[in-house]
Amino acid sequence: MLRILRGGECYSPEYMGKKDILLAFERICAVEDEILPGAYKGAEIVDCAGKLVCPGIIDQHIHFTGGGGENGPASRVPEIRLCDIISAGVTTAVGLLGVDSITRSLETLLAKAESLESEGLTTYIYTGSYSVPTATLIGKPIKDIALIKKVIGIGEIAISDNRSSNPSLKQLKELSYEAFVGGMLGGKAGVLHMHVGDGKGGLSLLFKLLEETDFPYRMFVPTHLNRNRDLFEQAIRYAKQGGNIDLTAGQPADAGVTIPDALERLLREGVEPGCITLSSDGNGSLPDPGSGGVSVGKVTWLLDDIRSCVLDKGIGFDIVIRLVTRNVAELLKLYPGKGVLQEGSFGDVLVLNREDMSIDKLFAMGNLMVENGKPVKRGSYEGT
Ligand code: ZN
Repeated sequence: MLRILRGGECYSPEYMGKKDILLAFERICAVEDEILPGAYKGAEIVDCAGKLVCPGIIDQHIHFTGGGGENGPASRVPEIRLCDIISAGVTTAVGLLGVDSITRSLETLLAKAESLESEGLTTYIYTGSYSVPTATLIGKPIKDIALIKKVIGIGEIAISDNRSSNPSLKQLKELSYEAFVGGMLGGKAGVLHMHVGDGKGGLSLLFKLLEETDFPYRMFVPTHLNRNRDLFEQAIRYAKQGGNIDLTAGQPADAGVTIPDALERLLREGVEPGCITLSSDGNGSLPDPGSGGVSVGKVTWLLDDIRSCVLDKGIGFDIVIRLVTRNVAELLKLYPGKGVLQEGSFGDVLVLNREDMSIDKLFAMGNLMVENGKPVKRGSYEGT
């Protein structure tokens, strides 16, 4: 299947100007000022004039098999559907367990990742869960990363949270070793993806770990850093020291710092945009200890926040889209296959309407997934 995406305003994620993109099967085969269809018989022409064209979004934090359970068995979130992910412009997703490694397993998570991949996404997972010692597939996190293709790191390990197992510094150092050397042996990113809660310590354990060891900053991905104001101040300090910071979508302003407010502040503080990433925490639960009720986080909140950064805050689209494309691809060692629009990269392309940044089209591995904002590719049991 050949397609020429014609005349869009292309961002890779830096602005490239008006370009034509040739998609051939699962790859981008050319990005040129003009691609003449005569040379590619049967190619479908997709008019992208006036649209924003960028790489598909990479979401490094989705609870594929459902998070939750904090308010009892009835609060266990069901498995995610393909349409929940592609409706957010996401073409590459990393799945993870959460607090619950008792009634949920990494085996199910791996199978779900395979299922989503067969439906058209690119998927990976983290081994482990909140607690330390952590859940594994084949006995040790280092073995999971080194030997199992889809496993690219450990996560989400919880610190500073009343649901954390309160790992000691020694335990975290050992886990960092497993992630780092597992990544080396398996040719993976080997990241340690860390859930940081509202607890007293904030990022202090991570600061200490980096002070006392020789692990590279790049392998640590602390997330939810906009969940409260004190933690966000620590995050600014951490980023200025060279650390990656991951912000979670859908954060209300009353409890913490919204992504648009956070990004505005980070840029004002002179934080290097290359160390900032955004993720959705999609399909996780949002337990309300007061009411005992629970709601589900949406992957689409990520695109909502991206829109708000550009349309409400006036931050450049190139800067914002980089945080969910190239930055994540580099962090997870998926670059340049993912996260850019260039010859040889995978055919993951998001086409947005300029005025309201709604989705016009989404291609994943060269296949049309969303058209006019509606999913056209359905998962196995969707709509039955
Ligand atoms: Zn979390």
